[in-house]
Parts: sequence; structure tokens; C-alpha cells
Amino acid sequence: MLSIKDLHAGIDEKDILKGINLDIKAGEVHAIMGPNGSGKSTLASAIAGKEEYEVSKGDIELEGESILEMDPEERAHNGVFLSFQYPVEIPGVSVTNFIKTAINQTRKAKGLEDMPAGEMLKKIREKAELLEMDRKFLSRSLNVGFSGGEKKRNEIFQMAMLEPKLAILDETDSGLDIDALRIVANGVNKLKSKDNAVLVITHYQRLLEYIVPDYVHVLMDGKIVRSGGKELALELEEKGYDWLKEEVGA
Ligand code: ADP
Ligand code: MG
Ligand code: MG
Repeated sequence: MLSIKDLHAGIDEKDILKGINLDIKAGEVHAIMGPNGSGKSTLASAIAGKEEYEVSKGDIELEGESILEMDPEERAHNGVFLSFQYPVEIPGVSVTNFIKTAINQTRKAKGLEDMPAGEMLKKIREKAELLEMDRKFLSRSLNVGFSGGEKKRNEIFQMAMLEPKLAILDETDSGLDIDALRIVANGVNKLKSKDNAVLVITHYQRLLEYIVPDYVHVLMDGKIVRSGGKELALELEEKGYDWLKEEVGA
């Protein structure tokens, strides 16, 4: 699904990622953990193609094809979804209309006609039900006055509708409350399948109690310094990051 090879990336001449290697297969959930400033969000941005980040070396392949030359929109059309990519408020555009447009744009990019209205409606209902969203929420203006939990719910709804091949959830360090965590985790767990993959990025182990990863990688100073199973997350929760820093001499 995703193959990252010796990726070096940075911003304004500053190297942030210093040789990342990562392979994610369909059906797998990977977690990236690491201290603040280690480059987690930069990695998410580099995969999604945010233009301020410059890749100086290495490659990112999605299903065997390099995506480095694609802009963020093309990557999204090819099945890469990054949470928090569109937290914009759009008064007058409802949650439903926003996602309809996004879906039809993706189809258009693939040379397909708009999704028939009936099919769209059915899909919206199905996903809204799966995520336990109420009807009123769907007709609200996008992100306007949304609580943190509602923003999360909307993102997971977008993800459910778009059915990405690779979903990247960068949970940032701002801290989600427990309800928002559950919303994200339930949504992700329900959408997981053998055909898609999930990359969860988190500073804390908390989220991983709900979304159980197959693999955990620790990022420090722009490099993956350790990989393991879900027990690695527990070890980090217990012991913090300092012991590992010492061990790897970071
Ligand atoms: P994390 O998500 O692990 O906290 P980031 O990827 O946000 O780490 O940041 C990694 C490093 O790159 C930090 O030292 C940060 O200050 C720097 N950095 C990230 N984004 C920018 C930016 N837009 N401009 C300048 N420096 C940045
Ligand atoms: Mg940070
Ligand atoms: Mg971050």
C-alpha cells in the first residue's frame, strides 16, 4: 500500500526527516509515536503532499507508484486521506453538501460521472448511521461553531464517505477529550478493512487503547529508532521516551 524509502524532507533548508523507511500493507494499522518536535506531523504532511515541505531525497510510493510529483489534491484523489486537512469553516455549505462535492470531484478526477443522487443519499445515511451521527448534524454549516468532538466526527464521516486507501490520523498534541477519542477510534475501527490501511500518529499511548495497532514505530529526531508491536506503546507509556533516547543515543 504505502512504501516510504529513505525519505529526507524539511522546510526552509532545515532537514526534519532524516531517512525514514516505512512499509505499510493493506489491512494493517501502524502507529507512529514520538516526542514533541520529532517530525511526526512533518511525516504526515510529506505523505499528504503539503507544499511547504520539501523532499530532498528518497521516495514515497502508493501501490508501487511514486506520488512525490502529485499535488495534495491528486494524492487525495488517489486515496490518501489526512485528518485535519480541511478544518475550515464554510458558512452556508452543509456537512452533506461538502462531502457530495468532494466525492464527485474525486470521481471526476478518475473520469467518472457524478454519483447518482439516490446512491449518494444511501451512502450518506449508511455512514451517518454507522458513526451514530444525527440528521441535524448533517445539515449544519461545515465546522461553523463545531465543538472539538463534532469536528472529529465530521472528519471521520468524511473519511468514511471517501473510503481512502490510506488514512492518516495526526492527533496533534493539543489533546482530545475522551469523547472525541472514542469517536475517532470507533469510526476508524468500523472502517478498517483488508483493503485499506491506517497510520495513526500520536504523542500519547491513550488513543492506541482504542485503535489497536499492528505495528508501532518510534520517531526521534527525524528517524524511526525503534519498531515493534502494540506492546511498545505500553512500554513508552510506562517509561516515557528518555530511556529510548539514551539507548539509541538520540
Ligand atoms: P511533531 O509533530 O513530532 O511534534 P513536527 O513535524 O511538527 O513534529 O516538527 C518537527 C520539527 O520541525 C520541529 O523542530 C519543528 O519546530 C520543525 N517544524 C515543523 N514545521 C515547521 C514549519 N512550518 N516551519 C519551521 N519549522 C517547522
Ligand atoms: Mg508538535
Ligand atoms: Mg505533530
